Amino acid sequence: MYRASTYQMRSGWNAMLPPRICRPALNGKLSVDHAVVGAGFTGLAVARRLKELEPETDILIIDGGTVGENASGRNSGFSGSDLPTVSMASASRADASADALSKQNVIAVFDAEGLAWLKDLVARYGIDCGLRQVGSFKAAVSERAAAALLRMSESASTQGRTLPVYKQDALEELTGTCFYRLAIRSESTHLFQPAALVRGLADHLPSDIVFHEGTTVSNIEKVGERWHLTCPQARISARNVILANNAFVKLLGYGKDRLVSLFTYVGVTERLGNRARLLGSLPEWGMTSAQRAGGSTLRRLSDGRCMIRSLYSYEAELKESVIRRRLLDRFRRRYPHLADIDFEYVWGGVTDVTRGGAPFWGELEQGLFISAGYNGSGVAKGTALGRRLAELVAGKVAQETVTGPLGRPGWLPPEPFRFVGVRGTAMYEEFRAGADAT
Ligand SMILES: Cc1cc2nc3c(=O)[nH]c(=O)nc-3n(C[C@H](O)[C@H](O)[C@H](O)COP(=O)(O)OP(=O)(O)OC[C@H]3O[C@@H](n4cnc5c(N)ncnc54)[C@H](O)[C@@H]3O)c2cc1C
Repeated sequence: MYRASTYQMRSGWNAMLPPRICRPALNGKLSVDHAVVGAGFTGLAVARRLKELEPETDILIIDGGTVGENASGRNSGFSGSDLPTVSMASASRADASADALSKQNVIAVFDAEGLAWLKDLVARYGIDCGLRQVGSFKAAVSERAAAALLRMSESASTQGRTLPVYKQDALEELTGTCFYRLAIRSESTHLFQPAALVRGLADHLPSDIVFHEGTTVSNIEKVGERWHLTCPQARISARNVILANNAFVKLLGYGKDRLVSLFTYVGVTERLGNRARLLGSLPEWGMTSAQRAGGSTLRRLSDGRCMIRSLYSYEAELKESVIRRRLLDRFRRRYPHLADIDFEYVWGGVTDVTRGGAPFWGELEQGLFISAGYNGSGVAKGTALGRRLAELVAGKVAQETVTGPLGRPGWLPPEPFRFVGVRGTAMYEEFRAGADAT
């Protein structure tokens, strides 16, 4: 079982950056208006927005780990894509691509809001995280996935959007791999260095927000009108508590019947120097899989490295040796001419998955709020939902502004039925997706 805020391996993105001076751990007793648990994209957005809305209130952020080592500093660094993924289990249905596009249009409203805010903060504080609108491909290996992408491109054109199609040769010329049969392209995708972005946001918080790292909350209970949070060396009393701690919220007893923790993994090569030309003619690019579950994400970084994100494990991290071997195998299948290249960095991170894909969001009990369940795509969404949560806490919006358009997550059965259900669904998806799930 994993523990709150700890991962086996350091985030490679964070390791590429100069060391950062962390905030000290909290010692003693503290009484505040709002306590935000977690300093990833969600918690940082909640705290910043609350300060804008209620400048006179006391706001505390506590994080059990350090910023940059959380999922927010471990992800693939993609945001703003308007390309949905399709379940290959339903991809042959004529309307599956159109359905996926419509669903994506709803999510895109929140993503756009979150990304716009992030871009504004990056510009305002000069955060050096390489955030750029680079565009990205969504690629298919099998005939079935390629057909689904073609239908998606056609559906998009009926909505007045253009998603250009790239055949195998054209894609190989641009990205150096002939692994994929076909791809469609979105120009809206932004790529960035995740640890640099989240660290920049944390280090430019308004100075009157109290922020402590290395402070894990082990228990939350309501005493009278207030919430009491227990940490190893501290006790906190708060009027409102905002849980922004991703899948780790289950360790505090919340969301156990709504959230599944799936770990996924990243490998980044050394700098390839002259051989970076084997990654195609585009100097920087991103590529995601057409398949919803199990597919791989690829990136060519501007410094000549290649990143692959792939593999999943249920509720626990895989061993480093297993991750490295399996990621290298997937990388080499795409780049057999770089078979001698090893990864300089390998790491894992948790994603919180819900049944049906809706976030786990809103007020759980009076004064206790949560935003989680982003299903592997929480940079812009987590930022937007964090902002909205602050507005809910401050009484500026109703819960339905989010649960209306995005819905609520479905109930999950307890173990062992849950494991059987998740495993069964994953196996079926992987079977239907074939090579697209590798
Ligand atoms: C490998 C990988 C690739 C991904 N790729 C993308 C991508 O390209 N684009 C995208 O949009 N999303 C992506 N995601 C998802 C995205 O990273 C997350 O959805 C997002 O970062 C979640 O942010 P968060 O603030 O909710 O959680 P986190 O960043 O996990 O922050 C939660 C914080 O809570 C702290 N915490 C936990 N428990 C406690 C406790 N008890 N007490 C105190 N603190 C606690 C943790 O230390 C942590 O800092 C990816 C995720 C992974 C793992």
